[in-house]
Amino acid sequence: MKQNNYIEIFDTTLRDGTQSEAISLSIQDKLLITQKLDEFGIDFIEGGWPGSNPRDEEYFKKVKALSLKHAHICAFGSTARDPKNIERDNNIQKLLKSETPAISIFGKSWRLHSEKSLGLTDDQNEELIYKSVLFLKKNGRKIIYDAEHFFDGYKDDKEFAIKMLKAAEQGGADVIVLCDTNGGTLSGEVFDIFSSVRKSIDSPLGIHAHNDGETAVANSLQAVVAGAVHVQGTINGFGERCGNANLCSIIPNLNLKMNKKTGQVRNLEKLTSLSHYVDEIMNQVPNNRAAFVGKSAFTHKGGIHVSSILKDNRMYEHIVPATVGNRQHVIISDLSGRSNIRYKAQEFGFDLSDDKEFSKKFVGQIKSMEYEGFQFDGAEASFELLLLAELNEYEPFFDVIYTKINVMFNHEGHKYAEAVLKVKVGKDIEHTAADGNGPVNALDSALRKALMRFYPEIKNIHLVDYKVRVLNERNGTAAKVRVLVESSDGEKMWSTVGVSHDIIEASLQALNDSLNYKILKMQKPGKKVMNY
Ligand SMILES: [Zn+2]
Repeated sequence: MKQNNYIEIFDTTLRDGTQSEAISLSIQDKLLITQKLDEFGIDFIEGGWPGSNPRDEEYFKKVKALSLKHAHICAFGSTARDPKNIERDNNIQKLLKSETPAISIFGKSWRLHSEKSLGLTDDQNEELIYKSVLFLKKNGRKIIYDAEHFFDGYKDDKEFAIKMLKAAEQGGADVIVLCDTNGGTLSGEVFDIFSSVRKSIDSPLGIHAHNDGETAVANSLQAVVAGAVHVQGTINGFGERCGNANLCSIIPNLNLKMNKKTGQVRNLEKLTSLSHYVDEIMNQVPNNRAAFVGKSAFTHKGGIHVSSILKDNRMYEHIVPATVGNRQHVIISDLSGRSNIRYKAQEFGFDLSDDKEFSKKFVGQIKSMEYEGFQFDGAEASFELLLLAELNEYEPFFDVIYTKINVMFNHEGHKYAEAVLKVKVGKDIEHTAADGNGPVNALDSALRKALMRFYPEIKNIHLVDYKVRVLNERNGTAAKVRVLVESSDGEKMWSTVGVSHDIIEASLQALNDSLNYKILKMQKPGKKVMNY
């Protein structure tokens, strides 16, 4: 029995989320994400639109083989096109053939759409909604009715919009979802419109918000305040244009701040890793500034903030980061004082509170490296290695003693690079070569190839992001470059930095740090670590 403060969470990452630019998921990707969403406790997973493409049809066939613990799979589609021909409508047929326990079906709530794009009279539109819902419901599915463009339709003609909701209600829809399809409605309007709809509609109401006014999360929460019991959104807010309402923010807000309960409440500490997992599968660089799950969400830089959180984290944090599986980060820069260093050392189990000399010397070292062009803000793993080395707790696991890189262009302008390396590990010397589509790629491959024999744990490491910044550009060719590398082993991410006059050398420094860091963490798992 669900409590009356229970809010149903409906995830549409696999349907609306894949409408994002530059995102494309294979069937295997979709199945992997389905599994993760189920483990996390999502109530409904909208898997796709079987009427729109064969890949989604295939997904619905394969998803049946997964043994899901909690989630109901849902197929998405539109109402039928002709009121006289509901049962044989192609889209409706495909929805039924998907054999999902739930179906979400959308209909028009804005006359602009029903009239202009479908050429329907009000009565015809109403009939289509009623009959489509009724027919699907008779086939024993849970019906989630999405009232497309509801808020715009309501503002245009309230009677029309409500009449269409009533058609879905009479057809037997289990949930009626008010959609802000164009994403431009503000939270106050959502609250007012929702509250007034509740007076005419008895069925449970839901919200589906888009983020074009950057208010999708706020709108979803306001809808809940006004009585919504079903919230739709996507992981990390992926979706068409500016995206959908971000479930990674909605879920913790509902559970931690609004006295509501969702099916994920026991798994909240998996939220950050779920967010990274979906980024990884979608091949997206995680947004550091994402609320709750971003790397910067609990990051402190200024010295005063740091000395305060050392006393009590509530001073600068809205929740305890571990509640959502995130962690506090303290970063080091020329703004930092000795408390940042002390904090970092404490993370590794070193108490420096008495060792003022060390902290002072180390802050001095960091500041002079920053003057040289290093930046540790985005490269915490390099910083950790530096601190541990200074504390005699770390020595590099290998030494690159020789590097040669050839870059070749053929007559068609195609680039090809080859890296030759000699790496010393203990007393052994490994001599390898590898190629790649560019010098850094070749270097990265050769380095990992050379070390694989000694440290098989580096096998799954890959580069997630690679950034180059030219420093003091005014000096022309004497300019330095800073390379930032973000690496992942599929589960965790860490970032490292290199600085040199030469881009290859700077890249090699950052790659060296990245591999050393991973080996260190694998070899000393007992150590409490900072950003790994
Ligand atoms: Zn949508």
